[in-house]
Amino acid sequence: MDNVVVNDSPCALTEREMEGIMEEALAEKQFLAYYQPQYNHTTGLLVGAEALVRWKHPDHGLIAPANFIPLFEKNGFITKLDLYVFEQVCIFLRKCIDEKMPLVAISTNFSRYDIFQPDFVEELETIRLRHDVPVKYLRVEITESSVMGNHTQANEVMKALHEHGYVVEMDDFGSGYSSLNVLKDIDMDIVKLDMLFLSEEGSRHRGGIILSSVVRMFKWLGLPVIAEGVESIEQADFLKSIGCDYMQGYLYAKPLPGEEFYALLGSKSIGRMVPQLKVIDNLNVNEFWDPRSQETLIFNNFVGGAAIFSYYQGKVEILRVNQKYLREMGMNMSEKDVIRMDPLGVFDDENRKIYLDMLDKATIMGDEQECETWRSLSSSCCGEERVCIRSTVRLIGKSRDNYLFYAAIRNITAEKERFNSIIDNERRFKAASEQVNIYYWEYTVATHEMRPCFRCMRDLGLPALLTNYPDSAIEMGIFPPEVADMYRDWHRQIAEGVPELEAVIPLTMDRVPFRVRYTTEFDENGRPVKAYGSAAGIVNEA
Ligand code: C2E
Ligand code: CA
Ligand code: CA
Repeated sequence: MDNVVVNDSPCALTEREMEGIMEEALAEKQFLAYYQPQYNHTTGLLVGAEALVRWKHPDHGLIAPANFIPLFEKNGFITKLDLYVFEQVCIFLRKCIDEKMPLVAISTNFSRYDIFQPDFVEELETIRLRHDVPVKYLRVEITESSVMGNHTQANEVMKALHEHGYVVEMDDFGSGYSSLNVLKDIDMDIVKLDMLFLSEEGSRHRGGIILSSVVRMFKWLGLPVIAEGVESIEQADFLKSIGCDYMQGYLYAKPLPGEEFYALLGSKSIGRMVPQLKVIDNLNVNEFWDPRSQETLIFNNFVGGAAIFSYYQGKVEILRVNQKYLREMGMNMSEKDVIRMDPLGVFDDENRKIYLDMLDKATIMGDEQECETWRSLSSSCCGEERVCIRSTVRLIGKSRDNYLFYAAIRNITAEKERFNSIIDNERRFKAASEQVNIYYWEYTVATHEMRPCFRCMRDLGLPALLTNYPDSAIEMGIFPPEVADMYRDWHRQIAEGVPELEAVIPLTMDRVPFRVRYTTEFDENGRPVKAYGSAAGIVNEA
């Protein structure tokens, strides 16, 4: 396998020597195109290849591009070399077509010095047409750094390439400073992410988080992603788990000489690279990542907590949250805490089902859906806590099995707990009152409203709310006429601030003696607000 003997150590030739022989080397066909296959990790299908140049020097063996590309970029020879490689690719494809071989698209690397040549696209077309290769088999690979700071001009080149039908790949994405701007401004078709940028020790975990967010973002934009430099099965599985299917790297194959790649084409099943996600709906996704855009303003200034998350093969991944989201969650959560958290891991089985059912419903109906769920959250500062969140979700993007949601959330833990404790108290009190034969009610001073207990309602047929109390009850005959005036007077006294009242009163139609008590509740200014009444049956011990 001579393809592995690429000389990666410093080249024996000096720059001057290389410069002196480069033209001759080109004429003698010492520059060779190698082909590194690209696979769909899920299906195992070959989906494409990248052409990588090697210099096969008669005395020094195979020389790796790192040794001569920078020099050729300096002296301008690079354009000649790149067009030569492109022509070799066309010749290779022509041969495959003639021999009825299965085919995949092949991408060629172009330097930043090539793409801004005034007749760059015409040159490609001349070569392509010379060999009569359909444009769908040819991809143009340019690095992110080559378009940096030159977005307008780069887009003109992009436009010309697209007009002729070329697919453009953005190479080494994430290596530059302005990746998000590039993504927003440049009309690319495929993104290549290099694993090497993420493999630095110590930044592994962060790298993983960034990578998964970036991959989601691309899917959302409808851009296929090729992960490059994939060396281990762990990397491949991780990439697959975050939704990146297309891979290139030593794990699958090293760059192969033409004959070996040709043999591979004959033996392997061939697939096609397809964009995975079609964005639907009214959010302008490009603008969404621009810090000054309207969408971002809405997102950040939205009255409540908001998040963008994706739902892919039963997994939820949070991509973005606003400041208010963190505040709603409480516990001094940071964005890092949230993004690190396994979004479905915070639920118990019952709550997870409620949540996933809501997502499914939102997916099917395409409208807004709401649910309330309890979650166990943990933050770096506050440990573990259970919170209840009301979420409203809306689908904003989808592909076959990848969904993107917008969520508005509200922390309703306090409300829930108050409500639950009321229900709890009510239940306890109800049980106790049955045991001791007590009726009870709540009287609101300002409105003359009375709310009876469950037992009052059941035994006396009272509605849940009586207005104009106590007259309404007196009219119903619950109080005998001889105590009516006294009972009316009690309520006047309560309004004047008497804290407690007590008397034995024969109640109900059967005039059974009850010990009736009132306890008044005051506000912070000492004004009576409510009075709690109870009527306890007196056990006749005689
Ligand atoms: P690149 O375009 O990012 O190409 C990928 C490089 O990563 C290749 O190095 C490839 O052999 C290597 N690679 C592939 N899989 C793995 C892996 O699993 N692990 C590791 N560690 N490396 C992997 P190569 O062929 O030495 O090329 C280096 C660079 O030289 C290329 O980087 C590209 O920027 C440039 N280059 C290569 N051929 C051409 C060309 O024809 N024209 C221009 N302008 N530049 C070229
Ligand atoms: Ca490349
Ligand atoms: Ca690359």
